[in-house]
Amino acid sequence: MSRKCIKCGVCEMVCPSTLSPLRLIDNKRSRNQPLPEALDCTTCNACVAACPMGVHITKSIEKMRDYFKTPGYGETLYNISTYGASIVPEGRPKPNPRPCKTAYFAGCLTGYRLQHISDAVTKTLDHMGIEFTRIDERCCGSPLNRIGRFDLAREMLEKNLRQFRELGVETIVTSCPGCTSTLLEYQEEFDVCHYLDLYDSYDIYGALHKEPYRATLQYPCHLYRNVSPYTMKVAENILKKMCEYVPLEEAERCCGAGGGVRRNDIGLARMLKKRKADDIRRLAPDVVAVACPQCSIQLSEDARAEDLSILVARNLRLIA
Ligand code: SF4
Ligand code: SF4
Repeated sequence: MSRKCIKCGVCEMVCPSTLSPLRLIDNKRSRNQPLPEALDCTTCNACVAACPMGVHITKSIEKMRDYFKTPGYGETLYNISTYGASIVPEGRPKPNPRPCKTAYFAGCLTGYRLQHISDAVTKTLDHMGIEFTRIDERCCGSPLNRIGRFDLAREMLEKNLRQFRELGVETIVTSCPGCTSTLLEYQEEFDVCHYLDLYDSYDIYGALHKEPYRATLQYPCHLYRNVSPYTMKVAENILKKMCEYVPLEEAERCCGAGGGVRRNDIGLARMLKKRKADDIRRLAPDVVAVACPQCSIQLSEDARAEDLSILVARNLRLIA
């Protein structure tokens, strides 16, 4: 048990999953054996944000997960050690790294499986006149941190940082909240920003026009809680410029996909999503805007979910 914990139970009340964060961090009760319910944590950080004592609940849970060997965790470890990516990579053209002050880092899911997101971001950066480079990306280490392999995660991150340093990169633009919060550990060396924050600082609003559709917004946990709640204000302001924005009830509640839960236990991931899917159904938007590849995959099962980068690029007539 963390010495700081006063057993107030607030973490229990905010947890969207089936586990008991308090029981998990209570070593006496668990006899110092990690409990299998550690696998059910989506690492949404709602408990950490609410804890009045600043207990690092999620970090403790991630540490425990190193103890478990599940097929899902095995797949993550295999893919990263074999391909340098958390998924089996396919269909990405080799980048042509060149010295540049700005780099775009897509991440594994966006770079290999959801390339329409990286396509939309890169076309918008071109449109804004921002010169950027791409490195030969390796997994940033975020999925390894989620399963307690902090050592390997750091090794993977270093492979990317080395390339940024060699190219003289000062600003790293991201499109995945997991990559963003992982790279932010190096914020003293690099300026790390999600594309939404970059669009905001370039005042993209004036270039956008209103179109006749209704959109709601899911807040990605790692962007909203680990990076900045302001980024979600930016997302809302962009949506208000492009369409009729209808707020989603408890937009900050986890969609159920994160922390490796979707890969490890798809049944649990879908169960955790049910309340959100019901909220979306009641609101009946034309599109659910997201800013996270995991949320995009998870919510696309129930609704038309599109990354904001795509909605923006389409609004600017950069993509169909
Ligand atoms: S919210 Fe923090 S202080 Fe309260 S029970 Fe949970 S870990 Fe302990
Ligand atoms: S990080 Fe989220 S899912 Fe995990 S224990 Fe905390 S509130 Fe629950």
